[in-house]
Amino acid sequence: MAMQPGTIKRLDEVVVNRIAAGEVIQRPANALKEMIENSLDAKSSSIQVTVKQGGLKLLQIQDNGSGIRKEDMEIVCERFTTSKLQKFEDLNSIATYGFRGEALASISHVAHVTITTKTADSKCAFKGSYVDGKLKEAVKPCAGNVGTQITVEDLFYNISTRRKALKSPSEEHAKIAEVVSRYAIHNCNVGFTLKKQGENTSDVRTPAKSSHVDNIRTIYGPSVAKELLEIEHEDKKLSFRCHGFVTNANYSMKKGIFLLFINHRLVDSSSLRKALDTVYQAYLPKNMHPFIYLSVEIVPQNVDVNVHPTKHEVHFLHEDAIISSIQSAIETKLLGANTSRTYYTQALLPGAPVSLDNKEVDPATSKSSGAPEKTYAHHMVRTDSREQKLDAFIKPIQTVSSVDRLQQATSLADPQPMDTSTKDQEMELPSCGSQQKKRPVRLTSVLTLQEEIRQNMHKNLREMFQFHKFVGCVNREFSLMQHQTKLYLVNTSKLSCELFYQLMIFDFGNYGKLRLAEPAPIHDLAMLALDLEESGWSEADGPKDDLAKYIVDFLKSKAEMLSDYFSMEIDQEGNLCTLPLLLEHYTPNMEGLPMFVLRLATEVNWDEEKNCFHTFCRETSEFYSFKNSMFPDTSDSTEGSQGEEESTQNSWKWTVEHVLFSAFRNFLFPPKTFAENSSILQIANLPDLYKVFERC
Ligand code: ADP
Ligand code: MG
Repeated sequence: MAMQPGTIKRLDEVVVNRIAAGEVIQRPANALKEMIENSLDAKSSSIQVTVKQGGLKLLQIQDNGSGIRKEDMEIVCERFTTSKLQKFEDLNSIATYGFRGEALASISHVAHVTITTKTADSKCAFKGSYVDGKLKEAVKPCAGNVGTQITVEDLFYNISTRRKALKSPSEEHAKIAEVVSRYAIHNCNVGFTLKKQGENTSDVRTPAKSSHVDNIRTIYGPSVAKELLEIEHEDKKLSFRCHGFVTNANYSMKKGIFLLFINHRLVDSSSLRKALDTVYQAYLPKNMHPFIYLSVEIVPQNVDVNVHPTKHEVHFLHEDAIISSIQSAIETKLLGANTSRTYYTQALLPGAPVSLDNKEVDPATSKSSGAPEKTYAHHMVRTDSREQKLDAFIKPIQTVSSVDRLQQATSLADPQPMDTSTKDQEMELPSCGSQQKKRPVRLTSVLTLQEEIRQNMHKNLREMFQFHKFVGCVNREFSLMQHQTKLYLVNTSKLSCELFYQLMIFDFGNYGKLRLAEPAPIHDLAMLALDLEESGWSEADGPKDDLAKYIVDFLKSKAEMLSDYFSMEIDQEGNLCTLPLLLEHYTPNMEGLPMFVLRLATEVNWDEEKNCFHTFCRETSEFYSFKNSMFPDTSDSTEGSQGEEESTQNSWKWTVEHVLFSAFRNFLFPPKTFAENSSILQIANLPDLYKVFERC
């Protein structure tokens, strides 16, 4: 038997309005937000909020703005009455908060609303009470100051389900305080207060003509306020700018605070929120978050505020591009505030300008254009094997017979960050590489090696490197640096060797990868090495081919560990596929690869864990160290370089200054031996020079 169809009836208009109103006004804080925006639209400089029972019993807002004209009082609470929007096209360029005349109407459908208001040219104030959008009775003249007071009582008196859902007045009060606080920080010219009715002390109080930072301090406390960095960023191509304050890497909290205003409207954008949190993940302890206050202004045509009746979550055109632009602006600021992280900011490609600002974004594509863009480790997926080729760094190879095979082995492709990494809490200094989540290292052997490096650090030398001024390169082996009044001659090669060793130990198990453009046969590499005098091969060692085979098998047997700990991948066929990425923008001289492979098999002590890691890292750092032979003498300006030698990133001088010395500054624990073994020599001291001159 068929079911009897229900009768379809037209809903009573009042019920329809009430349902719609319940959509817009979900809790007292929503109503308050609408009313604050109205007061700001009316150019108020003082906004006072009084509440009772979390706004459920009473929600009152008093401003000193323009007021409402008596003639408008009749219809002010009807739907779609507004003084701000005339034609549909205005929606595109609206500069005020409200625009659809829905807020007051909605509120009046779910609460008792009373408005008292006076305009500047009116002799007295007028008062009217509203039910379901309509005036209850004619407005009455009364005494009052210029401005508007709106009283909302018994919110949701006619929606019992909603009333029951909001059973915690303290929770609602907290939401209200949040809204008032945020508007107070953003509108620091306007004085805000929030009070519970009948209480003398206010929950929020900011003076008029204050500053953003002062208000942040007043509301969130001095510990946040003293760690703030100002963000000022404009992107003409994407037609937006942003201004705000964010905490630096020294500050973090369990529950982050994210204040976002887009075109002066308090909104949320979960994609921006997540994107910014990702930036901080690299700097803050696990599960800790920053304070962020950002005011973003986007050409109104590009913002869709209409997305939800509460107008809270927004979307905008070119969202991805705008978000990464903001990301890099904030990251740049974070880096600038913490010199120990500077080298993250280096461009990844030889020959690419060191540009931190991601200004080259093409709005048309909404993603990055061809221009070099700041790459976050978590975004660092290379698709173009032409990038970061070693040819950009190496010179023609002398050994004619080995040129071909070497070149095969030496064109490097993508440096890839490892995806499994976690911050190393043990570190006093940030270590290198791609510092998104690092795997924690728990191996006692590695921790001991780290401790040994720390114990063996020369304090004064450490300070010297931290605060040095790079003076210049004497030649490929030596550089000059200044610290205070003293000039030092520094052995770049030796220091870089130590640097790479330390980077290996501190970043153990967390290196990125340098992928060889083509896998290099270990057998061939071993043969090349055995051909070198340096290998010390003699007839007594047996046929080279046998040795080479042994080396292939031996390293293959260690493949799993090599890949897991050292980012060195060896495939089934015995080809070397990747090398560890120890320092951004630095690739070892591939001429050393054959000897490196040979020595891994012959010089590393594979029997005992700590010793194994120690010798392995020493061998690797030897291979990575900056060598005299690293760059061609004359042809520094090869492919990809432009203009002056000093300014090109594939010139050896650039590498020494911007890659190595910057890493010495940030990551090196100079061992005590450096003070004695002529790795660093003081060659002049300014006061001594003066003494000489005085005698003249
Ligand atoms: P909207 O803000 O979208 O225009 P509202 O329902 O919020 O719609 O407000 C309706 C109208 O009431 C506004 O356009 C404005 O003219 C007037 N109004 C509301 N609040 C105030 C206020 N605090 N001061 C002056 N005018 C106000
Ligand atoms: Mg409004």
